[in-house]
Amino acid sequence: MTGRLFNVQRFSVHDGPGIRTTLFFKGCNLRCRWCHNPESYKMEPEIQYLREKCIECGECRKVCEHGIRIEQGKRTGLENCVLCQKCVDACMNGALKYAGREYTLEELTGLALRDRAYYENSGGGITASGGEPLLQSEFVGLLFQKMKEQGISTALDTAGNVEFEHFRRVLPFTDLVLLDIKIMDDELHRSYTGASNRKILENARRLMEMGQRMHIRVPVIAGVNDTLENAWALQKLIDGYECVEKVRFLPYHNMGLAKAASVNLEMEEFAPPQKERLEQIRSVFDFCAD
Ligand code: SF4
Ligand code: SF4
Repeated sequence: MTGRLFNVQRFSVHDGPGIRTTLFFKGCNLRCRWCHNPESYKMEPEIQYLREKCIECGECRKVCEHGIRIEQGKRTGLENCVLCQKCVDACMNGALKYAGREYTLEELTGLALRDRAYYENSGGGITASGGEPLLQSEFVGLLFQKMKEQGISTALDTAGNVEFEHFRRVLPFTDLVLLDIKIMDDELHRSYTGASNRKILENARRLMEMGQRMHIRVPVIAGVNDTLENAWALQKLIDGYECVEKVRFLPYHNMGLAKAASVNLEMEEFAPPQKERLEQIRSVFDFCAD
């Protein structure tokens, strides 16, 4: 069995406690308009083109047998690409990247174990992120099981828009859930992410009822969800559940724009919230909101 990933990041410090290896699984069933990893949207593998690294040397064109060309920072003929990766190997500038490599359990276990000493010294471990890792829940469950057998701590970074059975496969081997709750109002949630938040909130309640250790993560976007109403509604949802150890508010940044362009997607630019507003939002939570 294999898992499909678009990135593996060592020494990550933003995806759970301590120093971690973050595994970015490909495929997502939300379409958040501010997404910072839009190369994860599609489950299918694709070639990313990082325009800012390209010097238009033409080496990739020489090896491509299917006529894909790069001219003035744009790829043409992409519909003929067979994902052979010859161009990726030919590009000396790292401007082409294969997003969607299949990894076996053994490969990922080996990768993760390289940094065991760092995890032990920092209270870290591995994090399954994405995309939506629970779209590959069977694989993630098996991987986490192997990690736990090795004494490695596990965190699941999920947007939670899945049937609960996917959580069930992974939770027995999960130390910490990092759950994104983006917008509490369902209409707004639909218009900015392409899906209802009903399943996400139901799953949040079930996880809290089970006493699952959790951090809630909220990307904060000006004019979208930077309201006190949203913060109050979230506070009401988690009120009284001590298993929610943290609520983290993460101001919008526009790093997703270049990544969207790298996979031929257009994305609009949003703005981060004002500092005072972010502080007001954080102050709604009387514990460890950061
Ligand atoms: S080989 Fe790399 S740097 Fe050269 S044109 Fe192709 S993508 Fe650009
Ligand atoms: S992956 Fe293969 S077919 Fe696709 S652009 Fe690169 S060399 Fe051409």
